[in-house]
Amino acid sequence: MVDAFGRPLHDLRISVTDRCNFRCTYCMPKEVFGHDYRFLDRKELLDFEEITRLARAAVSLGVRKLRLTGGEPLIRRGIEDLIAMLSELDAEVTLTTNASLLPRKAQALKDAGLDRITVSLDSMDDSTFRAMNDVDFPVERVLEGIEAARAAGLHVKVNSVVKRGVNEQEVVPLARHFRETPHILRFIEFMPVGETNHWHTEEVVSAAEIVELINAEFPIEPAEANYRGEVAKRWRYKDGKGEIGLIASVTQPFCGDCTRSRISAEGKLYTCLFAVRGHDLRALIRSGATDEQLAAKLAQIWRVRGDRYSELRSQGTVDPAVGERKVEMSYIGG
Ligand code: SAM
Repeated sequence: MVDAFGRPLHDLRISVTDRCNFRCTYCMPKEVFGHDYRFLDRKELLDFEEITRLARAAVSLGVRKLRLTGGEPLIRRGIEDLIAMLSELDAEVTLTTNASLLPRKAQALKDAGLDRITVSLDSMDDSTFRAMNDVDFPVERVLEGIEAARAAGLHVKVNSVVKRGVNEQEVVPLARHFRETPHILRFIEFMPVGETNHWHTEEVVSAAEIVELINAEFPIEPAEANYRGEVAKRWRYKDGKGEIGLIASVTQPFCGDCTRSRISAEGKLYTCLFAVRGHDLRALIRSGATDEQLAAKLAQIWRVRGDRYSELRSQGTVDPAVGERKVEMSYIGG
C-alpha cells in the first residue's frame, strides 16, 4: 500500500502521553507548558488495548517499526505492559526517551520485549544540559540511564538536537564521548515543529556545518546508507572508531522517502510531523469498529496522503502551514 507519492507506510510512532518531566526550552518551554497548561486527562488517552489494536491494524498494512514516544513515554504507568503487548506483533518495537527513568526501568523494558532504544542528549556539559532541560537534570543521570540500557542488552542510539547559540559548542564533546562507546550518535537539525519554540532559520546549525566541526577534530568520511530511505546520513570516523548520523530535516528535506505516520496520545493519526490536523481514530475505535474497519480507515487515509511540508517550505518563501497552528512535538510525539 502506497500514498499519493508512492511512499509505503513502514513506521508508526505512537505517543503514549503528552506529559514530560523535562521542560526543554526548544520543545516544552515553561512559559507555555506551566502549571495552568491543560494536558490530556487519563480518560482521553488511548488505553493499551486500543493502542495495540491500532498498531495491529498498521502492521497488517505493512508497518514494520513501532516507536513509542511522547511527551516522555517512560512516565506512562505500566509502559512495560504495552511493550509486551506490542512485541507480539510482527514489527520491531522501539522507544525514544530522555533516559531520566532508565536506570530503574531498562531491564523491565528489555524483558518486556523492547528491541531498541533512542536516548535524547543535547550536551555533555552539565550546566548547558541543565539549562536546556530547564528542570536542572544532570548529564550524569542520563549517562547512567544509557549504561543501564546497555547492561540490560538494549541496542542504544543517542540523538542530539543542535541549536545555534545554545549547544553547537557541544557537537565535538558529544562526538568525542560517544566514539568511545558502542552507541551511535546522531545529530538533528533544529526543526520548525509546533508553534511554541519560536523557531528561526538562523538558529539551525546545518548538517554540513556539524560535519565540518567534527571533521576538524576527528576526520570523517561518508558511509553507505544501510537501506533506502534511511533518515540519518551516515559518516564514519577515518580512524575506524565508529560512525555518526546526521538528520538534515531542514537543509536537506527527505519527504520523498518519508514512510512515517504518528498517533497522538488521544488517538489522532497524523501523516506528517508538521501537520495541522489529525484523523480521529479514538472516536472510531470507541464506536465499536472492528479490526478490519480500523485497517480500512488507516489505508484510506494513507492512500491519499500528499504531505511534503519540509520540501515545500525549503522551496518557497512562505511556510506551507502559514495562518494555521501546527501541532506541538510533545503532543504528536517526536
Ligand atoms: N521525551 C522523549 C525524549 O526526550 O526523547 C521523547 C519525546 S521528544 C519530543 C523526542 C525528540 O524530539 C527529542 O530528541 C527532542 O530533542 C526532539 N525535538 C523536540 N523539538 C525539536 C525540534 N524543534 N527540532 C528537532 N528535534 C526536536
